[in-house]
Amino acid sequence: MVRRALITGSFDPITYGHIDIIKRAAAMFDELVIGIIKNPRKQGLFTIEERTEMIEKIFSSHPEIRVDHFQGLLADYVNQRDFCAVVRGLRTNKDFAYELEMAQVNQKLFHEGIESVFLMARPEYTIVSSSNVREIVSVGGTPPDGMVPDEILQKMREKYAQRG
Ligand code: ADP
Repeated sequence: MVRRALITGSFDPITYGHIDIIKRAAAMFDELVIGIIKNPRKQGLFTIEERTEMIEKIFSSHPEIRVDHFQGLLADYVNQRDFCAVVRGLRTNKDFAYELEMAQVNQKLFHEGIESVFLMARPEYTIVSSSNVREIVSVGGTPPDGMVPDEILQKMREKYAQRG
């Protein structure tokens, strides 16, 4: 049986923190699907298609990792597919408090046998978030090294320049 896991998030844009968690999660399962959450109420910096393309490029040498997106209830998406686990990264107590509640609700909604799995962020990535990076780049700054790949930073700059 293929053990397929899902990792969810907005990935707007993908950071080195995400990349680390994704690689570590991929090593634990046969297949890992990166599920981009589409929020119809929130216009992101990048479109779902742009995020997909950027993530696919980063993991092009990892055939066990693929990208998908979904909208609506996570449990519906997960239950309709063949996932054994949903992976999330934990950076802080704040992440923990939120994720604990979500995982306990999902425990009631997921089909039997689908587990929520948490990986602790590496210390160097605990302050890395897409929103931190967006905030810095949106006002013309450069994020500290190790937050976001250069090609992503470049795309962010182009995006903010287009927006004016
Ligand atoms: P963000 O909170 O940065 O907007 P997402 O919603 O895209 O991130 O998060 C997707 C998943 O990746 C979540 O489980 C989140 O906790 C995890 N994650 C995000 N940034 C990091 C990081 N720096 N280190 C570890 N995990 C992270």
